[in-house]
Amino acid sequence: MTDVEPIPLAQLTTLRTGGIPERMIDAHTTEELVTALREVWAEGSPVLVLGGGSNLFVGDEPYDGTVVRVLTTGIERVPSARDGFVRLRVQAGHDWDALVAYAVDEGLAGIEAMSGIPGTVGAAPVQNIGAYGQEIVQTLAEVELIDEFTGEISTVPAAELGLGFRTSVLKHHYGSVPGRSAVILTVTLELESVGQEERPVVGEQLRTALGLEPAASVSLAWVRDHVLATRRRKGMVLDADDPDTYSAGSFFQNAIVSASFARTLPPECPRWPMTPDLDPVLVIPLSAYEGYVPPPASRESDVKVSAAWLIEHSGLRKGFKLPRSRAALSTKHALALTNRAQASAAELAQLARFIQGRVQSEFGLILQPEPVLVGVEL
Ligand SMILES: Cc1cc2nc3c(=O)[nH]c(=O)nc-3n(C[C@H](O)[C@H](O)[C@H](O)COP(=O)(O)OP(=O)(O)OC[C@H]3O[C@@H](n4cnc5c(N)ncnc54)[C@H](O)[C@@H]3O)c2cc1C
Repeated sequence: MTDVEPIPLAQLTTLRTGGIPERMIDAHTTEELVTALREVWAEGSPVLVLGGGSNLFVGDEPYDGTVVRVLTTGIERVPSARDGFVRLRVQAGHDWDALVAYAVDEGLAGIEAMSGIPGTVGAAPVQNIGAYGQEIVQTLAEVELIDEFTGEISTVPAAELGLGFRTSVLKHHYGSVPGRSAVILTVTLELESVGQEERPVVGEQLRTALGLEPAASVSLAWVRDHVLATRRRKGMVLDADDPDTYSAGSFFQNAIVSASFARTLPPECPRWPMTPDLDPVLVIPLSAYEGYVPPPASRESDVKVSAAWLIEHSGLRKGFKLPRSRAALSTKHALALTNRAQASAAELAQLARFIQGRVQSEFGLILQPEPVLVGVEL
């Protein structure tokens, strides 16, 4: 574990905001990470665990606590009980996209549609990262984590992480604390070994994004290349030469609303059901059956609606900025707030609040931020 000279978090976050922390520790091995966490947790001062800084919106004031940077790397193959599948155990600080590139080179399928997502492997389950219909929940077997309250290290199956749409029990949502305060040390994925052969692409969302017919066959490498190209066009691959990528990706989450509320929105607003509309199965114990089956209660699925559409149709076009502000919507993607030229967190927060206000007065719902907010409020 190495104490390093603290530097402004603006240099370590992709939205390029954040003051200088009181203390900064670089952890290059799991042992260093565990030692650092146990030490700072015991002190009781605030701790910010930092991966790639690509899902953080940090305030301008100095951070009154310790930043622990997760810099562990490494991929290890471990046996899988399933025929035709391979398990990869990956250190938390490993670069996510480097892992995807490795998997594609090895002919392992299941994460190729998530090519180009910035950040570390350890942060990926925190918000159940996803793109084009693929999410880490689909391939995550287990994580090894250290618990803040017990200091214990344990292996936790994916099913116990509460992985949902851009959430998990580990995510510090704006306005609420995580369900479980713990730090991921390693991530184990179970990927299908398919080789370099061309094969049909699973998932309509991915096929549509890549312009593929259902019967079309392509290789994993083809999918990766085309996903990267598509993301670049939207400013969704980090690029020091492209200010549209000085962001935290999507700043607002697609909104999840009830089916009845969704009907109040204009029909053109893109929407997707959260769960299939299944007929509920009613079980009546024979001893309680009195010859009468009650009519099924209506159970309409919640609906996910496009936050980008709501923003653009509240009159805020791509590239929008407030007068004299250095924060602006990306010129390529209405969901990304970007830092054009050393904007302060206050300027970005002002833009975010303005957008929330416009969408609320136009459509009656408050968009929620996707990044984790530290020392800043909306
Ligand atoms: C241009 C761009 C495009 C993006 N596109 C997508 C996308 O398509 N899909 C998507 O889902 N996301 C996307 N994101 C968001 C982001 O890349 C992901 O959320 C990513 O997983 C964050 O990783 P990180 O290492 O940068 O996390 P950080 O920003 O460093 O941290 C995020 C949160 O996770 C916590 N954390 C970090 N490491 C650990 C750990 N080991 N254990 C426990 N908690 C930890 C931090 O404390 C913090 O609360 C995008 C971001 C950018 C900038």
